[in-house]
Amino acid sequence: LMQLFRPLDMLGWVYRSIRQGLIDMEAMWDLLDTPAEVVDRPDAPALDVAKGAVQFENVQFGYEDGRQILKGLDLDIAPGTSCAIVGPSGAGKSTIARLLYRFYDPSSGRITIDGQDISQVQQRTLRGAIGIVPQDTVLFNDTIGYNIGYGRDQSTHAEVEQAARGAAIDHFISVLPDKYDSMVGERGLKLSGGEKQRVAIARTLLKNPPILVLDEATSALDSRTEQAIQETLDRVARSRTTIMIAHRLSTIVNADQIVVLDEGRVAERGTHEELLDKGGLYADLWQRQQAERLAEEIAEAAE
Ligand code: ATP
Repeated sequence: LMQLFRPLDMLGWVYRSIRQGLIDMEAMWDLLDTPAEVVDRPDAPALDVAKGAVQFENVQFGYEDGRQILKGLDLDIAPGTSCAIVGPSGAGKSTIARLLYRFYDPSSGRITIDGQDISQVQQRTLRGAIGIVPQDTVLFNDTIGYNIGYGRDQSTHAEVEQAARGAAIDHFISVLPDKYDSMVGERGLKLSGGEKQRVAIARTLLKNPPILVLDEATSALDSRTEQAIQETLDRVARSRTTIMIAHRLSTIVNADQIVVLDEGRVAERGTHEELLDKGGLYADLWQRQQAERLAEEIAEAAE
């Protein structure tokens, strides 16, 4: 009888493992918001990234409901420079990142990387060239070392440690009871928003992509943590083409160009100083956020 039970027990284990895998997969898909309809054309070549220039040429796009979200967007991001996208909630900032990662195809216009239309190349190579630090990182129910190493296949422990140092999360890990073998996720240690973001940064460092998309968290971190994360991100972004989806303008003052989206179009573009001088939408937004920030800092100091 025991012999009969053993395989059943084994099956149960396999089932539980698979289900766990699916739960994590689901979380990933949810996060990435991936529809299945975008497929490679037969014989699509690999994307060849020599420099990392990113261009959106007259891109129009709407989700299934037919509402136009982008109404002819032009972006020209030179290799190794940073472009911040700002604008009111719902303006289509995250949509730009989703289109670049090719979760969707534009309804017209095109997106190129080093002159290659991204809809014509292998998705695998496209996504391999882009690192995303998302708003909210999904952690697997596994060790923190695994969660960092996930950024690249077969990373060594030394590489994981190096990435953790680069993301300034090594100190945090060094005081955990089991160090890199400490369990995190739903059934382990819960990480704060800032710590999770650092795990995402470490993953990205391991992936070492020429193009980086930073989707800034909407949930406010305290201003000290925010500043520390910002310094780490600035370091990671150096020498890579970087698109920053920004909610707080204070994080993007040094961007090489800032694009202000409004109603699906580029309302303004320029550097922080140029846009302040202009006294338009950006300048208004800046004034408002400065006032809010001051109020927050006063409240924090009073705590
Ligand atoms: P926020 O600053 O609030 O994050 P955003 O500028 O990043 O906003 P997007 O997430 O790009 O805005 O969304 C643009 C518009 O598209 C919004 O009106 C949103 O409701 C809509 N939208 C986003 N995702 C989908 C989807 N999967 N299906 C249908 N509509 C969507």
